[in-house]
Amino acid sequence: MRLKNVPGSREEIAASSYAIIAPELYRGRWQTLYPGKQPLHLEIGMGKGRFLQEMAALHPEINYLGVEKYSSVLVKAVRKQEEMGLPNLLFARMDAEEICNCMEEGEVSRIYLNFSDPWPKDRHAKRRLTSDRFLERYDRILPEGGILEFKTDNEDLFAFSLESIREHGWEILAETWDLHHSSLCEGNVMTEYEEKFSAQGHPICKLVARRRTVRRVV
Ligand code: SAH
Repeated sequence: MRLKNVPGSREEIAASSYAIIAPELYRGRWQTLYPGKQPLHLEIGMGKGRFLQEMAALHPEINYLGVEKYSSVLVKAVRKQEEMGLPNLLFARMDAEEICNCMEEGEVSRIYLNFSDPWPKDRHAKRRLTSDRFLERYDRILPEGGILEFKTDNEDLFAFSLESIREHGWEILAETWDLHHSSLCEGNVMTEYEEKFSAQGHPICKLVARRRTVRRVV
């Protein structure tokens, strides 16, 4: 994502009741921030937040949290949520690297990764959000049987992710290299990037994976 500095974005985020700027303070207590206790679903790197806004409107029985590293992007999601006021949707400024400091074991039941940065150079592979290092983190914050859903237009990243997830001992429940012409597309909610890339003719890849059921001894 091209990052522009948005003047005043930090102040605007701090003033919103839909944005959490010190997420480490809520470790183990995320549910207290929503009107009702319900399963918590997380999107890591939600960008402008459109996917979660639509999901939260469609599924009032789920609490959604979008996390984003950059204030300049997060502010756009927060602005929109200030207009929409969906009670089951919050956003946090958080680097995915910090996720285990911000989330307790098993606190999240589903993780969405949509159009995550590909980090194409081999030496940056561990920064990919589907690398083994991140899967270790997801192992901790998801309960046994917790679900990861991943969409991307980047076929190299998709191939890497399928291999990384399998090697990590998780189960791939579904995969497609062309989501929009697949049965997996039923009920699909598009993200901003998905709309842009599919309009340019890029097929969209999607996988659904389940966390392994036995914890590794670390
Ligand atoms: N999910 C959105 C945006 C995809 S772009 C969509 O599909 O339209 C990827 C987003 O992930 C960017 O907004 C980027 O700032 C964010 N991001 C990248 N690395 C991150 C990290 N380590 N932690 C949190 N967010 C991250």
